[in-house]
Amino acid sequence: MPLVMTDAVVLHAFDYLESSRIIRLATRDAGLQSVIARGARSSRRRFGTGIDLFASGTAEIQARPGRELQQLVGFDLSSSRAPLSADLERFAAASALSELVLRFAADDEGGDLFVELTRALDAVAEATPARARDVGLAGAWRLVVVLGFAPVLDRCCSCHTPIADDVAVTFTHAAGGAACPSCAQGLARGRALPPEARAALRAWSAGHDFAVEAPHVRRAHLRLLREFLEHHLSDGRPLRAFETWERGMASPIVHAG
Ligand SMILES: [Zn+2]
Repeated sequence: MPLVMTDAVVLHAFDYLESSRIIRLATRDAGLQSVIARGARSSRRRFGTGIDLFASGTAEIQARPGRELQQLVGFDLSSSRAPLSADLERFAAASALSELVLRFAADDEGGDLFVELTRALDAVAEATPARARDVGLAGAWRLVVVLGFAPVLDRCCSCHTPIADDVAVTFTHAAGGAACPSCAQGLARGRALPPEARAALRAWSAGHDFAVEAPHVRRAHLRLLREFLEHHLSDGRPLRAFETWERGMASPIVHAG
């Protein structure tokens, strides 16, 4: 039974039976892994102070080929990213980043995605609550770039003519990005994308910071991102963390029952 040691980050974790935890990890060297940590809630020797959401560390995984659930035999914590759980804005952004990777990454995803994901989580952890959404949006678009389905933003996705910075375009999920005014008429309906919004998407996709001024513009960005991601999903399951993120804390919706 090969023992794999790799850097890993916890994207999902829940208690199982009396003392175990089942965990979904993104790893640097072994893609996404589902593992069971037997005795995780009682063995401080093997698992330190606990394996919590968004924590990074070196995972020791006993891998059996063909098994869905591998065994986590050790986790040497390097960063707990406690600020992500201490604030609702940061938590919502980090949860959406996790969901993005869990839904889009291949099981054998390469290390680039792990690097971009941990960078994005660190940036959200360091952001003030007021900036957490913009920083989270930047991280999400970088993940989209690494996953290989970045939208076309600097030229028309249909006729490929370069688009000047000050031109308002239509963003069509189906055609894969910005469409010039004349092509937009013949394409499936999209969202109007003003020049500032396109500048934000270009900055975020390139790994640069961009501060959105107005809350309603930020909400429009969250909606655009969710719709773009949903268009690329084939299973039809909703992106729950993105829905929660978009709804925000200002208007909590309580579902009955
Ligand atoms: Zn065009």
